[in-house]
Amino acid sequence: MRKKIVAGNWKMNKNLDEAKALVSEVVNMVRDEITGEVDVVLCPPAVYLTTLRQYIPTEVRMALGAQNCHEKESGAYTGEVSALMLKSIGVQYVILGHSERRQHFGETNAQLAEKVNRVLEYFMYPIFCCGESLDQRENGDYVGFVKSQLTESLFHLSPEQFSKVVIAYEPIWAIGTGLTASAGQAQDMHFELRQHIASKYGDEIAQDTTILYGGSANEKNAADLFAQPDVDGGLIGGASLKSREFTNIVKARQ
Ligand code: PGA
Repeated sequence: MRKKIVAGNWKMNKNLDEAKALVSEVVNMVRDEITGEVDVVLCPPAVYLTTLRQYIPTEVRMALGAQNCHEKESGAYTGEVSALMLKSIGVQYVILGHSERRQHFGETNAQLAEKVNRVLEYFMYPIFCCGESLDQRENGDYVGFVKSQLTESLFHLSPEQFSKVVIAYEPIWAIGTGLTASAGQAQDMHFELRQHIASKYGDEIAQDTTILYGGSANEKNAADLFAQPDVDGGLIGGASLKSREFTNIVKARQ
């Protein structure tokens, strides 16, 4: 059985007091309202991770994730955060290859392969983001493009390593735009990606791989998206900044 996950990507938002308030609210709502088998992952800005960890009681099914990490082990990389550092403060998941990082920071598939390696070396779970632009969807082989993102950044992994990877399909045209992929569009891509994984790692691993959808997911469309057989949860941006709405999305997934 593959894991169901709802992850909140806070991006570069909130001051410390706001971050504490948001995590406390989500903790309380999840503790009181979520009874099903769903893992909640909160990905606040890295600078808050240590503090916010103390706000998450061990009995609540919630983990912390980072939004990025550097691909090198350690050294003269001013301003960067390593996988070891994240592990040492109790982080369990790391978002890698978000389209904003690919776009604004020039992250490449080869570089992301290295980041994935570091995250796995420290026994954390990569949430590997992939997805096509609007231009690619309208004019090109967008399915092939997204598959190649997986091939180039993940398919060097052993089956055992790959089984720790969470995939997040996030069409760039749907991120922060209010334009969600329809449930059918999400399902089609998730199905294709699962087939692609099966072609490399076999059916069993493919069936066990958690594939999240991200891109303007919200409390209104979540149930429809999560009803699709290959959509295992969500990577939620804007809607994860509102405790009530985020919890409602978790509810839709449980
Ligand atoms: P959004 O962002 O939900 O605000 O579209 C999703 C993401 O970028 O992970």
